[in-house]
Amino acid sequence: MPELVFFSGTMDCGKSTLALQIEHNRSARGLVGMIFTRNDRAGEGKLSSRLGLVTDAVEVGDGADLYAYLVDHLSQGRRADYVIADEAQFLAPEQIDQLARVVDDLDLDVYAFGITTDFRSKLFPGSQRLVELADRVEVLQVEALCWCGARATHNARTVGGVMVVEGAQVVVGDVTGSVDEIGYEVLCRRHHRRRMTAATARAAALSPDVLPVSSG
Ligand SMILES: [Zn+2]
Repeated sequence: MPELVFFSGTMDCGKSTLALQIEHNRSARGLVGMIFTRNDRAGEGKLSSRLGLVTDAVEVGDGADLYAYLVDHLSQGRRADYVIADEAQFLAPEQIDQLARVVDDLDLDVYAFGITTDFRSKLFPGSQRLVELADRVEVLQVEALCWCGARATHNARTVGGVMVVEGAQVVVGDVTGSVDEIGYEVLCRRHHRRRMTAATARAAALSPDVLPVSSG
């Protein structure tokens, strides 16, 4: 039976690497995948992993109908044996419904990969719809670690290394070295709640305020 599977996790948990692995294993068996993505760090129409692997993909725009796209693709006599949707947290809920219809009406497996919650620890709408519709949700357990060494379960957005909790839900980070650049960091829940990133923890450790009081 074809399935809609949601592989979920934090940033840096290896989702895109697993997506590329699934694609590699299936194409090695002669299968042809339809790969959708949105806002990949490598740019439009790319699926890339932090480990440096990259493949071409179809960039999903606002309002694109993924079901109609596949029907059109297949009716032109082209192949698609399965579907990968990376960065699925950025898809609209309707687009997730379209992926479920691809499974049910076109009999194709759909593997969706996405971050579950945003930098405010709220569900992305696309991820929420996946949790609601998926046949299976697989929580990836590649150990993304907080700076303290605990398992990282939350995504923080940083501006110049300082955690922020307000702003648009989707801002693609770009770590270039400027002072006010937007970045992302994975944290354990404790440090997400305390808004303590690696940079602020380092600054606090260097600050005289928090050095142990000497008894002399
Ligand atoms: Zn921590």
